[in-house]
Amino acid sequence: MLFRIPIRLLHDLDSDETQTFAETTRLTREEVRQLLTSSLAERYGPLSGKFTPRRSAARMVNDNAWLLTHTPRYCPRCLTGDGSEIQQLHGGSWQRSWRLPPVFACTKHRRLLRISCPACRQPVHTVETNSIIARPWDEDLHPTQCRTTIAPRTVGRLQPACGAQLAESDGARREDLPDAQTLEQLLGLQ
Ligand SMILES: [Zn+2]
Ligand SMILES: [Zn+2]
Repeated sequence: MLFRIPIRLLHDLDSDETQTFAETTRLTREEVRQLLTSSLAERYGPLSGKFTPRRSAARMVNDNAWLLTHTPRYCPRCLTGDGSEIQQLHGGSWQRSWRLPPVFACTKHRRLLRISCPACRQPVHTVETNSIIARPWDEDLHPTQCRTTIAPRTVGRLQPACGAQLAESDGARREDLPDAQTLEQLLGLQ
């Protein structure tokens, strides 16, 4: 059972890891690179190895609040998918930019990203140990369901996940929307 997928793997893979991942998923090495946040380093300085003495991906992501958020933000409408066959089945993809601290809005759907789950009110993918997603072993959960474990910490992993559906095709809830003028300025900034 896979208990966690270390967050460093979201940031970067070494050459052997890239090769293994590419062969397993039948992606090209370049496609694998485009899944990693390290390939955004040209546009977002904190992701770049040039500006930090931290050498390994693990050292870069640990205790670095400007690099990756511990739990992803998300756009509920993006998660509904684009209507393609694969997204009808699995929902819209979780975007790597949602992990970057300066990204707070979806300019496509003109709304702020959401941090917490509307049902359990906790950040989605809440985990105690650093992991890209919560409960990677839990095959019963659809990719767009909340994977946060809602039971007390002491009982741990065997407790059920919240499971609320995070994809929403209708408009943003009022709590997600600032007034129109503020939204305009925020989207412009983003
Ligand atoms: Zn969106
Ligand atoms: Zn939840």
